[in-house]
Amino acid sequence: MSSAPVEPRSWGGLKAKGSTLIEPQDWLAERKRNHPVLAYGNGRSYGDSCLNDAGGLIAARRLDRILSFDLQSGVVLCEAGVLLDDLLKLCVPAGWFPPVTPGTSLVTIGGALANDVHGKNHHRAGTFGRHVRSFELARSDGSLLICTPAQNAELFAATIGGMGLTGLITRVELQLMPVASADMLQEAIHFDGLDHFFEIAAASDATHDYTVAWVDSLAAGRHFGRGVFFRANHAPASEAPPAKAAPALPFPLTPPIPLINRLSLRAFNALYRAAQPRTPEPRRIAYRPFFYPLDRVRDWNRAYGPKGLRQFQCAVPMAHAREAIEDMLRLTLAAGESSFLTVLKLFGDVSSPGMMSFPIPGATLTLDFPHRGERTLRLLDALDRLAIAAGGRVNPYKDAHMSAATFAASFPHWRDFARRADPAFSSGFWRRVTAA
Ligand SMILES: Cc1cc2nc3c(=O)[nH]c(=O)nc-3n(C[C@H](O)[C@H](O)[C@H](O)COP(=O)(O)OP(=O)(O)OC[C@H]3O[C@@H](n4cnc5c(N)ncnc54)[C@H](O)[C@@H]3O)c2cc1C
Repeated sequence: MSSAPVEPRSWGGLKAKGSTLIEPQDWLAERKRNHPVLAYGNGRSYGDSCLNDAGGLIAARRLDRILSFDLQSGVVLCEAGVLLDDLLKLCVPAGWFPPVTPGTSLVTIGGALANDVHGKNHHRAGTFGRHVRSFELARSDGSLLICTPAQNAELFAATIGGMGLTGLITRVELQLMPVASADMLQEAIHFDGLDHFFEIAAASDATHDYTVAWVDSLAAGRHFGRGVFFRANHAPASEAPPAKAAPALPFPLTPPIPLINRLSLRAFNALYRAAQPRTPEPRRIAYRPFFYPLDRVRDWNRAYGPKGLRQFQCAVPMAHAREAIEDMLRLTLAAGESSFLTVLKLFGDVSSPGMMSFPIPGATLTLDFPHRGERTLRLLDALDRLAIAAGGRVNPYKDAHMSAATFAASFPHWRDFARRADPAFSSGFWRRVTAA
């Protein structure tokens, strides 16, 4: 066991101050230790929802065994700290694929469940939690509960998307989906503005499993709202060997100042657009560069310098989506900020099983900013206000700043959820947004 103080981080670069790392087996044996506690997966949440300053952090990654994998049914049973990456190595060669995957494979299965993550196929498959058949939940009262949609159903719904606040997930049973090959057939379509994006997105959601767009957040004037739309389906079986994926490279060090600024981003955006083929001919590519392009540079968040980055993600109902997204992009431009990864996507109407799941039908916009202190926080507040005014919500597991009012407007039913949370569990995020 390790009870030494540690400093796990969130992906945005926040450190857990004064937290004590606890081995899962130690916490399971003596559940009242280091109150308040929180499970820590692989720290791929951007803000403080995976941190617990001055409290205990249960090192959930230690729960790292794949317990069974049924090749006929595609049902996998694993401990909650197994990395999605390790699951992929096992299931893809066997013709199975996670039905929902986020934009990095470096998340734990427990973390994906606790945040009920979404992928580029939300319009078809909904969220990760829809494909969870059951999980085992350890609570601080000493209980170890099997949760399914029928058994301990309230805790099933509260834990999926419950940001680790209902207890420690120890095991997960997940239904995978069959795929005919490890490759994707991808098209890249340039769009010249937001109206064009919404047209392509509506048409593509009917024909493609995976859709997502990159927006050039620095484009102004007649180029405002331009970007590249990606859509793909799993490729059929082929005699040809699987497409090759380049190996991951490490990002060598944290530079003293952010390398992401308006100048570098303008150059990047021009290069990135130019690099995407203009003809919408499907291209056969390996699944990793399609789903996890950022995983090719390990620790790429270091490029943001010692202060790290802040991410904003909102979901806005379709009725107000076009206008709200335009307002957010114009606000970002006017603030003189540059977002490296500006991602726009439509969420479908497949319902989420989790009480606190983030997606709602409509559009979702994601922006990343180097953290420059007050001016960044002011911009984030203004973006939050636009999202709420449009009837939308702000994503808690990407967030490190939202106010209690923004949280309550995003999740008006949060008090019902709070009643099902485990009283011994907490996080920096939770204390901030529930402070009276
Ligand atoms: C490059 C990148 C791309 C991303 N793309 C997407 C995307 O497309 N869609 C999306 O939805 N998200 C996306 N994310 C966010 C990421 O998928 C989620 O934050 C994910 O939940 C992180 O998992 P983790 O294992 O790192 O967990 P952590 O970040 O360590 O923890 C996440 C939450 O899960 C809880 N938790 C972890 N393990 C357990 C456990 N065993 N029991 C109980 N609670 C637990 C923690 O307490 C915390 O609240 C992305 C992140 C990055 C860095």
